[in-house]
Amino acid sequence: MDVSDKLAPLRSEFSLNPGEIYLDGNSLGPVSKNVGVRVNEVINDQWAKGLVRSWSAAGWMAAPLTIGAKLAPLIGAKANEVLVADTLTFAIAKLVGGALKLRPERNIVLTDVANFHSDIYIINEVAKWAGRPIEVRTINRNNLAEELNENVALVEFTQVDYRTGEMLDMKSITKMVHDAGALMMWDFAHSTGAVPLDVEGCDVDFAAGCGYKYLNGGPGAPAFMYIREKWQNVIENPIPGWLGHARPFDFELGYEAALGMQAFVTSSPSILALASLDGALDIWSKTTMSEVRTKSLALTDLFIALVEERLPGVFEVVTPLEHAKRGSQVALRHAESYGIVQALIERGVIGDFRDPDICRLGFTPLYLGFTEVYDAVDRLVDVMNSKAYADPRFKVRNAIT
Ligand SMILES: *Cc1c(COP(=O)(O)O)cnc(C)c1O
Repeated sequence: MDVSDKLAPLRSEFSLNPGEIYLDGNSLGPVSKNVGVRVNEVINDQWAKGLVRSWSAAGWMAAPLTIGAKLAPLIGAKANEVLVADTLTFAIAKLVGGALKLRPERNIVLTDVANFHSDIYIINEVAKWAGRPIEVRTINRNNLAEELNENVALVEFTQVDYRTGEMLDMKSITKMVHDAGALMMWDFAHSTGAVPLDVEGCDVDFAAGCGYKYLNGGPGAPAFMYIREKWQNVIENPIPGWLGHARPFDFELGYEAALGMQAFVTSSPSILALASLDGALDIWSKTTMSEVRTKSLALTDLFIALVEERLPGVFEVVTPLEHAKRGSQVALRHAESYGIVQALIERGVIGDFRDPDICRLGFTPLYLGFTEVYDAVDRLVDVMNSKAYADPRFKVRNAIT
């Protein structure tokens, strides 16, 4: 399978530890060659020599938009609809805060009770800034149809569930929300670079995602925001700053938003972090999301089949078997999941644990091979048969799981 794998040559672009099987690219993607090239260029040429001139000469000021344009095809957006800045929780704050003003007569926000906690924290807080009472309802996403009514202003869902790997049907959900007169915002943390996305075709209003997961932009890499063209110059940035002003260097005391996505830039772009993300995005010129998706499904199909064949009945496969509902990870449920993940890490299979009982394994086609899937299952079988997971050392949990 590796021999016929068109993406196999891309592996050499990444720095990976020999013998280690990295199934955690959904948490922190590995570093690729062009990251170092771009970061060194910024340090040694643009910063060291160009100094302050580089804000314009090296395109630093424009970087949030130019790198956004480079990322746009990965989500099916137009070049002028994406901005790279902040981190995801801040991006959600800006978009939710702005969206609430677009539906002033409505006062409910719906989000998923299974959503990532940070989304829920920030949405609850931003709702308090709206200038009118807003009720944030954390619902069972399967009951969306019953929860929608003429009072719902906005729905915010994460498109691929970070825990289970279930992928939601973006098109039908967005349509259902629009039919109820509400706005739709998607969190793409586990979608971008993992599954094909078509924000245009699905008529998505707003979206945001991480730069450091499947995009491999580096620890704490900037996030991205998508605002559909029709909402630009209509939606207001609730966290305005000088760089979102129409004329930042006029130092006016009154705020007037810049046109387009620039209005959602608040402050000075983090140029070294952006250079790292920029270098990481180069890999996407060598493949397509459709090739990546085909291989991703082949990798996860193989992993699931091997686990069921070699460890029958040991795990509950929580991730949907149906391709249309599967992201690029496999979640296995077992009461001893924490110890299992720790024992796997000791055997060179890097995955992670998600409370309360999930082993979460990410499959990233850019650098994973099929042989590694067989090897990972061999090591998992060893962990289960030897009961290595029951080691007393694993009874105390690390702060970062
Ligand atoms: C990783 C993740 C986040 C966290 O984003 P930050 O960049 O740390 O703010 C938010 N939402 C989801 C669904 C995530 O998976």
